Amino acid sequence: MLLAVSKRHTAERIRALHTLGQRSFGENYVQEALAKQATLQGLDIEWHFIGPLQSNKTREAAEHFDWVQSTDRKKILRRLSAQRPAGMPELNVCIQVNIDREPQKAGALPEDTAALARFARDLPGLNLRGLMAIPKVATETHDPGDSYRRMHGLFAAMLDAGIEMDTLSMGMSADLESAILHGSTLVRIGTDLLGPRPAGDGD
Ligand SMILES: *Cc1c(COP(=O)(O)O)cnc(C)c1O
Repeated sequence: MLLAVSKRHTAERIRALHTLGQRSFGENYVQEALAKQATLQGLDIEWHFIGPLQSNKTREAAEHFDWVQSTDRKKILRRLSAQRPAGMPELNVCIQVNIDREPQKAGALPEDTAALARFARDLPGLNLRGLMAIPKVATETHDPGDSYRRMHGLFAAMLDAGIEMDTLSMGMSADLESAILHGSTLVRIGTDLLGPRPAGDGD
């Protein structure tokens, strides 16, 4: 599946892609997303939250998104579960994995991921869908394909252990081919679909 990452792009750019048939959009900042959702009210869009999620933003995420791909700790999962409104379908969640153990990056460590996934699976209001990763950027000594291979290994081991999931979210504009080669089921594409992002506060 193709997720169009629309962070920092306008609601009108989203509307234009929607007209071409794209239905799933990913956003990184809660307030920015809520403003666009208000502008685009009535369009059949599946909204994915893919940015770092602070606990003071979980209520808005639980109320306004179909998916949260960037959960990485119990506190966030517990809050999303408690705050998902009763009348809405379950919130689809992925566990974000810090596959390259980068200190500055969000995500659960690989060895903690299965326990966190089981925790999410057992919470009401949440539907555990899978794993998400943002690998270390490519350098002369690091091939993101290696990170994707390890992600796929973790995903397969968790399936073998009886944790039901159907989504392995990995791959961005720079490396989607490699991600798909290593078993991605959902690529998150911004630049290659919408062009360079207008300047903002980092990614
Ligand atoms: C911005 C972003 C993307 C898209 O990146 P591109 O390189 O523009 O395709 C994908 N995933 C996450 C989590 C992002 O923050």
